[in-house]
Order: sequence, then C-alpha cells, then structure tokens
Amino acid sequence: MKRFLLLSGYSLLILNIHAQSVFQMQTVNGTPAFDAVANYCGQKWGEYLNSSIPIKVRVYFANLFGQTLGITIPNGRRDFPNAPVDSVWYPSALANALAGTELNPGEDDINIFIDNTANWYMGLDGNTPSNKYDLVSVMMHEIAHGLGFLALSDINNGEGSFGYVEPSDIAPLVLSFPFPEQEGKYAIYSTFIENFSGQELDDTTIFPNPSIELATQFTSNQLYFNGPNAVVANNNQRVRLYAPATFAFGSSLHHLNESTYPPGNPNSMMTPFIGLGETEHEPGPVALGILQDLGWSVNLDASINNPSKSPWMIFPNPAKEYVYIYAQSTLKSPCTWLLVNVSGTVCMQGTIQPSTELFAISLKDLVSGIYFIKIDNIALKILITN
Ligand SMILES: [Zn+2]
Repeated sequence: MKRFLLLSGYSLLILNIHAQSVFQMQTVNGTPAFDAVANYCGQKWGEYLNSSIPIKVRVYFANLFGQTLGITIPNGRRDFPNAPVDSVWYPSALANALAGTELNPGEDDINIFIDNTANWYMGLDGNTPSNKYDLVSVMMHEIAHGLGFLALSDINNGEGSFGYVEPSDIAPLVLSFPFPEQEGKYAIYSTFIENFSGQELDDTTIFPNPSIELATQFTSNQLYFNGPNAVVANNNQRVRLYAPATFAFGSSLHHLNESTYPPGNPNSMMTPFIGLGETEHEPGPVALGILQDLGWSVNLDASINNPSKSPWMIFPNPAKEYVYIYAQSTLKSPCTWLLVNVSGTVCMQGTIQPSTELFAISLKDLVSGIYFIKIDNIALKILITN
C-alpha cells in the first residue's frame, strides 16, 4: 500500500516583507515550534535569493523510518522562456525566477520531509544541546536541495545515470506535485560536475547516459563542481563533491565532501552528515557560489543583516484566529506587547514573561484588517483575515 497518511492538518506560514524573495512555507503535521523553524529558514533563504515569484515550500513532519533526517524533492521545469541552457532540468523555484513568471501555478516548488522520530532541537538560536539534532541546520540544508543542489543521479543494475529518478525511489513518500518525468535529461547542477582529470560527466561521448562508465565515476571519490562562482568562493579551486566508493542514492554527488568541509568549516552546511549538537545555520560562500552558477541571483552579504539578528518574529502572516510571537533570543525581563489597528487604537495588550520562547495571541475577537504588534520599539505589521 503506497498511501501517505499525513496530509491532514497543515498550516500556512508566510514571510516577512524585507526579503528579496518570499518563501511561502506550508507545513504538514508540524508543531508551533516546528512551524517557527520552517518560517525562520524560509525567511533566511529569502534574504539570500532574489526572485519576483514566491517560492512555495511544503514541509512534512513525517516518519522517515529512521533512515535519514530529511529528504527533499524539488518540482522541475525545462525549456522555459529565458532558460539559460536548453534540455536541462531547473528546480521550478529557479525556473520561475529566471522566467519572471510562475511556470507551475497551483503546484508547490519544493517538498521537504523531516523525520518526526529524531531527537530535534527546535530553537532558533543555534545553542544546540549535544544530544540533539539542530532542526534549523537541517531545514536550511534541505531547502538548498530544493533550490537546485540536486544531481538527479542514480545507479541501477550497475549503470550510473542522470535524469532517471522515479517515484519508487522515494516510496512510500508521495509528492504534493506530479513527479517530474525526467526523460534522461540532466539537472543544471550536474552540468558542472567533472572528474579529477576535468572530463565533464554530461559529455555523452565519454560517459553515455546510462552507463557503467558513469557508475565508475559516481563512486570514484574524485568528483568536482567546476562553476566559476563556486570556484572563486572556494579559493580558486574546484569544489570537491561527496562521491564515496559505495554509491548512496540521495547523498552521493549532491553534497560537498564531508572531510573537505568538516564541522566548523564555513561551508559545512551542505555536507551529507550532521552530528548531534552540530549547528550550521549559514549556507557558506561555496554553496552560494554553486547556487549562482546554477543561475540564482544571490545576495552574498545577506548574513550581515540576517533576520536572525531581529529579536522578534510573528507568524503566520496573514493570520487567522491565532498569531504567534517568537522571541529569537532569551528574554531577561517581562516584555509588554500591544496590538493596535491602523488608527493607532490599542485593541489588545499583554505581557510576555522571561523564558517564554513562543507566545500565542488569540485573534478571534478581531475583525479582518491590517494591524501592528508592538513590542519594545518594534512594530510588526500583520494582516488578520478572520
Ligand atoms: Zn542533503
């Protein structure tokens, strides 16, 4: 039976107005803390990437049967208006950004599945306890896959291939959008992969697709991403990818090499493994360079004025019935909040006690409209749609 039973009870989260792109994060079976992490990560990626088209991400908090912490599959488009390279797959979020129009109306851009049996730390501050996995780190990593950090590589019957990933490869997980039929076409990411001697893996005169020769390359431990922006970000060297001797579907090729970028390295977020207590909140220059090479318009200095520095976050926005206030750092003294309408009239007020991380306000008695939540000297605009 291939039914996925977790499609009930999702919540819609939308992001702040400062972003250079808007990530619409929709969670399925999340908790308030889980939803806050999803929203926070969408906000952070929104600061890094420029796109006029909202990026629609659906995040499932689901049982991945202990195999992995997260799985991500992006929607895809190819041969769209303004496509930089023909006959190559782009993640739909990037295709939309390049085309300047939404090519997949009504379809999500990215599906992320996060294991609900792992011991997660769901704080936003990066103070990950040594016995927990940091959800922000993992979700930032998974979103990157959805933005194009994906090779569409596989090995079947000894033959390596690009562009033949099938729904059965991720069963019993089921996507919210039609599984892209790849027809043996390469992902834009894969067009930058080469071996030690500089032979490009998408050169079918050397490496037919599929072929035993490709499988040999996939397991050679000597694969590199050679795109101009990534190379500059990597001290003018090609970027070593993860290509272990035993092929790991889902890990090989679309990660940075673990031992080249170990924990603590600024580029460690996109390695295949994360340890307990490890915190990697920023994608790092190499991953951003790779995204640039794929075609993204990237704000390289976004981490400087990152939303993580802002003390408050509210979500969802627009809100209905409830809104949550998230304190992004620990409060040391009680804090007064006001909810005011556009005329400045105080409609509700209260106090947030120290050590509160997540604070819910019931909006049931308010009429629809624009309001502001004022905390300290900060006013956060919110649309209420009761
Ligand atoms: Zn990964």
